[in-house]
Amino acid sequence: MGLLKEKVALVTGGGRGIGRAISLALAREGAKVCVNYLHSQDAAEEVVKRIKEKGGEAISHKADVSKLEEVNRMVEEINKRFGRIDILINNAGLNIDKYLMIMNEEEWDKVIDVNLKGTFNCSKAVSRVMIGQRSGNIVNISSVSAISGTAGQTNYSAAKGGMISFTKSLARELAPFGIRVNALAPGLIDTEMVKKMPKEMLDRILKITPLKRVGTPEEVAKVVIFLVSEEADYITGQVIRIDGGLAM
Ligand code: NAD
Repeated sequence: MGLLKEKVALVTGGGRGIGRAISLALAREGAKVCVNYLHSQDAAEEVVKRIKEKGGEAISHKADVSKLEEVNRMVEEINKRFGRIDILINNAGLNIDKYLMIMNEEEWDKVIDVNLKGTFNCSKAVSRVMIGQRSGNIVNISSVSAISGTAGQTNYSAAKGGMISFTKSLARELAPFGIRVNALAPGLIDTEMVKKMPKEMLDRILKITPLKRVGTPEEVAKVVIFLVSEEADYITGQVIRIDGGLAM
């Protein structure tokens, strides 16, 4: 408790699923949180309400992470309100699963734009603030699909793989300014994203998952807390898998 007192965090797509668990966990550790959302305003506001009820500080902000101007406005507002930004969690993401032969250009572009370009946009806007502070932490939520590949996810695994390479390069760029950049590669985590997966696909993945269950958003959030805390002060440019052993 209190590992992140006085820190200010931005969680993209922070209103539901993994982002929600991360927002709540950061607040539990004392961070002030901006819960970004695009469509799920009610969900984002529920997270803010919950944080405030427990005595924490939080705001919600609507912005499409794939649009740099919207991201810049959001980052300006957070900086104006809290005077700093210490933690960025690039969590907003989506998948549109199709075999390559039936995937159209829009389906490719959309997945790359939200997952990968969104990570570029938010990291660019926030690292300007972090460089001024000479400190900060960025965590990018990638996927095991980036490491092992998944049939039907060429767009998603390319975007998530791009996020891993981006993490490694940005970690080198920002290290001189006291900023750490890491990535997480979750396997199956119990959220809307997994609920809309065909049952046969889910069963197939569970069969090759040594721990034989899906993970919880809270299990991902715990690793985020570790990474952005002083406990992980010597860790940067790394990818941590949270996948029940799936990608071994
Ligand atoms: P989710 O669909 O519940 O959450 C995704 C969030 O991103 C939502 O809040 C959504 O509104 C937001 N979002 C989507 N497009 C956006 C945009 N353009 N701008 C701002 N916000 C946007 O899914 P989740 O499972 O919680 O996924 C969170 C992250 O974890 C994603 O990046 C996903 O790719 C990754 N991930 C999930 C799993 C899993 O099994 N659930 C596994 C590996 C990686």
